[in-house]
Amino acid sequence: LLELGSAANGIAGQLSGLIQALSCWQRIESLLQGPVDAVAPALPKPLGESISRVSLNDVSFSYAGDRLNLQGISLETPLPRRIALVGPSGSGKSTVLNLLSRIYDTTSGSIAFDGIDIRDLDPDSLKSAIAMVNQDNTLFDGSIRYNIRLGRLDAGDSEVEQAARAAEIHDFIQSLPQGYDTEVGEGGRLLSGGQRQRIVIARAILRDPQILMLDEATASLDAEAAAAIGRTLARIGATRTVLSVTHRLASCPAMDLICVFRDGSLAEIGTHDELLRHRGTYHGLWEKQSQIEIAESGRDVDITL
Ligand code: ADP
Ligand code: MG
Repeated sequence: LLELGSAANGIAGQLSGLIQALSCWQRIESLLQGPVDAVAPALPKPLGESISRVSLNDVSFSYAGDRLNLQGISLETPLPRRIALVGPSGSGKSTVLNLLSRIYDTTSGSIAFDGIDIRDLDPDSLKSAIAMVNQDNTLFDGSIRYNIRLGRLDAGDSEVEQAARAAEIHDFIQSLPQGYDTEVGEGGRLLSGGQRQRIVIARAILRDPQILMLDEATASLDAEAAAAIGRTLARIGATRTVLSVTHRLASCPAMDLICVFRDGSLAEIGTHDELLRHRGTYHGLWEKQSQIEIAESGRDVDITL
């Protein structure tokens, strides 16, 4: 009887854990969905296991209808690729990520993965192919391990740890008396913003999506931690597509492709070397950032472009 009782307790414990995880998933799902006005296709087509191409054909988009927030964006590239999106605040970088994850539909023009129009894709298969990390680093009440494992519920402890290492947060976690079992508190309030941000990045890395989107995800970190995560992303980007909106140009030389946005248009596109040779907007931004770095050499510099 005692044994039966403890087995039942165990099951009850697992069940309540599962229910908690499920309700968290629903919260994550609702966070991910955003203001979808996207219409589900009549005959949804699944996305393949390895997306090999993305194309944007003359894409324009307007949030409010009175003016275009993106206009005439055309871009076609094989995947996986490491792609940086740079440009001034308000130039349309986040909007491009919103369209690629179909949080919004284009106002005109089209987006296709592997030649399939995004509007014909199975929304669930698109959603499961993409992980997005932005500056919202609110955590769920629970342990650090639990918060990272939300990326993939069947991940083992060693996989959780590997993701934490990749996100440059493992050493910090190890230094805590309770390690991975440390409770983060409501919203993660017992940790700093930078620590929460790295846990969110670890969660996304653990999920191992085909397309990892980062929207200024390292902006709250110091230059050293951001650089280390940049190296991790460069490594991940060998087999996975990394789309990174960043104002830290130091991460750009390691990217395959840099898209420079200006006033809702794609002003320049190319590799770091190509864009420097072109001596246009990117060249100007790079020079400016380098000069400030030299002037303040050794100090942590954060240039907002
Ligand atoms: P970036 O990410 O490059 O800073 P965004 O893509 O966020 O730029 O914004 C592009 C333009 O769209 C800006 O003019 C911005 O004010 C506008 N915008 C962004 N989000 C919304 C929204 N939800 N509703 C209305 N306008 C928006
Ligand atoms: Mg943005």
